[in-house]
Amino acid sequence: MTDQQFNNDRRRLLRGALLGIAAAPLAYVSVRGSNVLAQEMPELDENDPQAIALNYVHDAADRDEMRTEGAICGNCRLYLENDTPNWGGCTAFPGKLVADGGWCSAWVPMPS
Ligand code: SF4
Repeated sequence: MTDQQFNNDRRRLLRGALLGIAAAPLAYVSVRGSNVLAQEMPELDENDPQAIALNYVHDAADRDEMRTEGAICGNCRLYLENDTPNWGGCTAFPGKLVADGGWCSAWVPMPS
């Protein structure tokens, strides 16, 4: 390896390290921002037309006659955990929080 190649490699390594250091705060803000957004999301209203269409309820026991035994939002593949206790996001109801003890007819089991 020549001195020229060594210097070029060293410059590339330093440039990569500096870019990584510069990007770290942006990544942190991005992660923190998504948590803040999740906390600010409203709870899904059971009377929302889409909630009605999917038979959503905050308490899964209210749909015992329809659901698979033990199925709740908290063990649904579409449930998105966040920092809000007992509530989470759901890809079936974007921008709304669903109860982790709730249920709807779009429930999908977790992969085993
Ligand atoms: S799709 Fe899953 S997480 Fe979303 S409301 Fe229905 S059961 Fe709950």
